[in-house]
Parts: sequence; C-alpha cells; structure tokens
Amino acid sequence: NSIPEIQIAEGVSIPQLGFGVYQIPPADTQAAVEAALEVGYRHIDTAQMYGNEQGVGDAVAASDLARGDMFVTSKLNNGFHRRGDALREAESSVKRLGGEPMDLFLIHWPLPTTDVDYVETWKAMVEIREQGLARAIGVSNFQVPHLERIIDATGEKPAVNQIEVHPYLTNEAVRAFGSANGITTEAWSPIAQGAVLNDPVITAIAERVGKSTAQVTLRWHIQLGNVVFPKSVTRARVEENFQLFDFELTDEDVAALSSLNKGLRTGPDPDTFDYIP
Ligand code: NAD
Repeated sequence: NSIPEIQIAEGVSIPQLGFGVYQIPPADTQAAVEAALEVGYRHIDTAQMYGNEQGVGDAVAASDLARGDMFVTSKLNNGFHRRGDALREAESSVKRLGGEPMDLFLIHWPLPTTDVDYVETWKAMVEIREQGLARAIGVSNFQVPHLERIIDATGEKPAVNQIEVHPYLTNEAVRAFGSANGITTEAWSPIAQGAVLNDPVITAIAERVGKSTAQVTLRWHIQLGNVVFPKSVTRARVEENFQLFDFELTDEDVAALSSLNKGLRTGPDPDTFDYIP
C-alpha cells in the first residue's frame, strides 16, 4: 500500500500521489496539509497564485517528518514571467515554504499571447535551479508547440508538464509527447472537479471492484503513469483518495475510462489563457 515514486530528474523522485491545495483558503491551508500528512500524503502541490504557500510552509515546519521525506511543488505566478521577477519571486516562494529548496518549481501557464516570451521565463527557471532554489524545474499547461520551443531554445527538458487530464479530457497528444521525451505528466483536476463521479461506465467498474468512482478514476491515472494530487478538505475523502494501491484495474477497464474522452476542459485553454493577477 505504499506510494510509488517516479524519477523526474537526476536524483529527484516524486511520489505519484500527492495532495493539491488549489482553492483551499490561506487560513485553512496549514490544517488541511497537516491532516493530509497524517493520512500519509508526502507530496503537496501549491502555487503562488493560490495564495496559500505560507500555510504549506507552516505545516511542513510543524511536522515531525524530515523535510527530505516530503515533496513540495510550487508554481511561478503569471505576472512574474520576466527574468528578474521570476528569480525574485522564486526566492520569496522558498522563504514562504520554509527556506529549503523547492522540490519542484513550475511555470504555471505559458501565456503565449502576452508580451513576455515563455522562452525567457524557461531560461530563468534554469537559473533558479542552478541557484539552488529548486531541485527540479518544469512547466504547467504547456501544449506540444510550447514544449518544442523551450527545448529547442535551451536543450533543457522540463522534468514534468502539469496539465488538465481526466477521463473526459485524456489530452493524449501532449501526454504522448511527454512520454517520448522523458517529461512526466502530472494530471490536474484528475476527477474533473467531480464531473466524472456519476459516469455510468466508471460506476459499473467501481461496483465490480468494490471501490468508489473517485478511487477508480484516480487508479486509472496511476496505471497510465500520471502523477495526481486530488484536492479535498473533507477528511473521509482525503483518506479515500489515498487508498489506490490495494487494487488494480484490468487493461479493459483502463481502455474503457480512456474511451470516455470528449475533449471537455473544466479549466482555461492554455493557448488563449492570458490572465495576470
Ligand atoms: P479535482 O479533480 O481534484 O477535484 C476536486 C473537487 O472534487 C473538490 O471540490 C472536492 O470536493 C471533490 N472531491 C475530491 N475527492 C472526492 C471524492 N473522493 N469524492 C467526491 N468528491 C471528491 O480538481 P482540482 O482541485 O481542480 O485539481 C486538483 C489539484 O490540481 C489542485 O488542488 C491543484 O493543486 C492542481 N491544479 C493545477 C492547475 C494548473 O493550472 N496547474 C489547475 C487546477 C488545479
């Protein structure tokens, strides 16, 4: 029942299951992360944009666990894509998260229609890693042409690409580019914020294997090789989402969930998203 780890960079391995803190109010975040650590989660996914890094840092500091036994990811906010801003804000994240290097730091969105080229931002991310502010660097919401551009410009591949993936949006082409290039896919909104939980195909499989539809969907991600970090502040669900390693789906089950794809985004389209807080 232990959590598998995936090596994403030289000397850096990430627990395949983590805990996401998007939309957890800053004042509630420390308690939510402490509860997740108690349940057994060792990987926390936050972002500057979520406004709750401090709560994550406080939970990490208060924990009896060694820092090296926890994995913390954060993401560069959209307003900080210029080199100087990125370097400064990476340092601020490190401070809020407790002073140790971040395990993983991502460009949150490519913002391809704004006036800062994400290639400049990616070069800054490489400096951030070289300065010891992050052990590994990656991207989020990058489409295949965005990935190709940063790799061509720098020769540096992102360790991960964190993108929206669930049975209604399998994002096959981006995932395939990732596997071909050694870029681990992290799946955000892994249960489509709840939209897949009443699906009849998933329900039938869940009844057969004696698990919930959330567990079956998260297990599908695990068997595809995706990293996941479902979000919940309800203790019973936090526990439920952790119980993914005492059962297995058949290849047919995995294919059945994949066949539900209908290109349905629950979040913004990375090609046009240009929001700057
Ligand atoms: P999710 O798919 O994890 O769904 C979360 C919602 O589902 C919550 O509202 C919760 O109430 C409900 N839920 C959770 N477990 C459940 C269960 N077992 N049974 C029934 N309902 C359950 O969606 P999310 O929170 O959008 O995504 C997860 C994480 O992904 C976030 O916390 C964040 O860390 C990350 N994320 C990243 C980006 C990005 O742009 N990189 C965007 C969105 C989310």
